[in-house]
Amino acid sequence: EIGFYKDQFVDINENVVPIQERGHQFGDGVYEVIRVYNGKPFLLNEHLDRLVKSAEAIYLELPYPPERIYEIISEGLEKSGLTEAEIYMQITRGIAPRAHLFPTTPSVMSMTIKNARVVDKKKRIDGVTVTLMEDERWKNCYIKSLNLLPNVIAKQKAATNGHEEAIFIRDGFITEGSSSNIFIVKNGTLITTPATNFILHGITRAAVIKLASKCNIPFEERKFDREFLNEADEAFITSTSAEILPISKIDDISLSPNRPITNLLYNEYCGLYK
Ligand code: PMP
Repeated sequence: EIGFYKDQFVDINENVVPIQERGHQFGDGVYEVIRVYNGKPFLLNEHLDRLVKSAEAIYLELPYPPERIYEIISEGLEKSGLTEAEIYMQITRGIAPRAHLFPTTPSVMSMTIKNARVVDKKKRIDGVTVTLMEDERWKNCYIKSLNLLPNVIAKQKAATNGHEEAIFIRDGFITEGSSSNIFIVKNGTLITTPATNFILHGITRAAVIKLASKCNIPFEERKFDREFLNEADEAFITSTSAEILPISKIDDISLSPNRPITNLLYNEYCGLYK
């Protein structure tokens, strides 16, 4: 495991963030989580493109050009000695006396490279339960912002009630999970929430949509409500760390354990990095 803060690699347990860091004091920054399989960062270009978009959306200049970020990632991976890893990286508006206006000091990148969190085999087979919750987030959920308080609280409430994930509802329609996107299958068609500003445009989500096209699975991006979700033939969540994870139950409503399309897509997804 290894850390990186402001131009240098550090021990992951070293205390390096100054008190007046805007990430620390304002959550003023953006981040990415990237999975490494067999020593290779998976869908790295897609993640860095999204990082650039998130940064632009909050008027944040990256501290390095993307080429330098690629270099730092490979250097870090080499130093870490890990091959099945998870890279967390964030860029903040830097270090300056606390005041809301943007400082003129440079932005700061930090990163950790750790062993990948692997989902339990049992969860992969049995599926996970989710609970529906009001989406109390702001209207710019497409930005991968450091401000995750509503997500953290939702995930904690879900866990306290024995659920794996909280699924958000905004104005009566399902948006996404607290740290995942959601798909359902109805009458052979794969359906997911449209990529508006109300959801994060997941990299795994995009990969699954491509795979559906490759497998000739009919696909639609459209809004759906709680009732439609409860009547799904299959449902699953997607994220970099969970990959494709079947949903077995939505609050008190159980879904069928037959998941032909979910299983097909999961096998195809694993094939992308194997
Ligand atoms: N939505 C939210 C709110 C998330 O936090 C995440 C994971 N970071 C996702 C969706 C899934 O995105 P990805 O597939 O890029 O990991």
